Amino acid sequence: MTTMIGPDEDARQERTGLGNYFVANYPPFSFWKPDYLSTAREVLSSPGNPSTPLGLYLHIPFCRKRCKFCYFRVYTDKNAEDIETYVAALAREVELLAASPLARDRGFEFIYFGGGTPSYLSATQLERLFQRVKVHAPWSAAAEVTFECEPGTLQKHKLEALRAAGVTRVSLGIENFSDALLKSNGRAHLSEEVFRAYGWIRELGFPQVNIDLIAGMLGETWENWRDCVRQTVDLAPDCVTIYQMELPYNTVFSKELRMLGDDETSGEVADWPTKRAWVDYAFAELEKVGYTVTSATTAVRDPANTRFVYRDSLWRGADMFGTGVASFGHVGGTHVQNLDTWEAYLGALDRGEAPWARAFPLTPRQKFVRESILLLKTGIWDSSVFLARHGVDPVEAFAPQVEDLVARGLATHEAPGLKLTRPGLIQVDRLLPRFFEPEHSVYKRYT
Ligand code: SF4
Repeated sequence: MTTMIGPDEDARQERTGLGNYFVANYPPFSFWKPDYLSTAREVLSSPGNPSTPLGLYLHIPFCRKRCKFCYFRVYTDKNAEDIETYVAALAREVELLAASPLARDRGFEFIYFGGGTPSYLSATQLERLFQRVKVHAPWSAAAEVTFECEPGTLQKHKLEALRAAGVTRVSLGIENFSDALLKSNGRAHLSEEVFRAYGWIRELGFPQVNIDLIAGMLGETWENWRDCVRQTVDLAPDCVTIYQMELPYNTVFSKELRMLGDDETSGEVADWPTKRAWVDYAFAELEKVGYTVTSATTAVRDPANTRFVYRDSLWRGADMFGTGVASFGHVGGTHVQNLDTWEAYLGALDRGEAPWARAFPLTPRQKFVRESILLLKTGIWDSSVFLARHGVDPVEAFAPQVEDLVARGLATHEAPGLKLTRPGLIQVDRLLPRFFEPEHSVYKRYT
């Protein structure tokens, strides 16, 4: 059965309504269940596949304040003692997982400190965290160590600690260069802090710097967006990641909009065509100065030397221990999510148990569908690679959906298999649910 979307559904989706729009994984999180945890435990106690890359994600769930569009599990009220308790638990979790048969004799290919705000921790707290984690998960041989930073939390000595610890990729959450927009969207930093931090990052010679922007923050205009893109070009980072603003449930904005009695749309939020036009403009300006667009959200300055190992490995089925409260991981073909409250997460680790809440073991077909969906976000399906890995070519397996995209000018049959056109690429997330299996076709809401 094929999931096709009619014109009415297309029109409805052009408004920025409440709910998640982006597809981060497959099958959707709402299908992951505690009942599947026994499978995850079996996987953990069996030898892993040495040819599958292994990574480690560490969730640091602290922020200076909550951005109004944020729905992540983050805390803005924890003190130094709480942070010490959390970091100790995180290190215990890494120890427990790294000692499992699944990880035995396998080095870590990539490490990712995400949040929340990893750079919220002081240099001393970070050094202690790194020491503890490295005992169980040494990363000197890792291809990539990424660390997410909020500009206003950085001091030069903190960045020196990151450089000394072997961080190879600094990801700076700029989001916008307008102080008025940063303030009205609840961000904790201002543009002055961006420029100061960026100067130190370059001075210290980190191998790769990514900056994040959001197209469509509340109050965004064409004039301001053009200025943001110009300032991005001037900074010349190695990689630029541009998200399109969503309005998920459980955010300050979604609550404010509901109080206004409008749970579907907001006049203040740009619609999807406008946000796509902003991303399109940014990509075009970046291409003018030599960047290459490598996915629906990223442009890189030097594609031959700028890899994003974490994303590329994960999208191709790598194993990754997702550690920290509410984190997502993938082990031996099974998705796993951690317990999502402070107390439950710490309690499980106190008992010496993996702090897992729910899981989903994928069938070979679901692994193929997942990889097809995630790799379409790069804009390219390489048929021969899929045939070698799965014995199936997605261009044939999804022929009706593919022909629909081609007929609408969103994709072309082109070596190495299928390529999305630029309009197709910048709206790929709304096209992806049509590739879901019928039982997972929850089109209106992803989570
Ligand atoms: S800094 Fe990131 S994680 Fe923290 S509140 Fe803002 S969007 Fe959420």
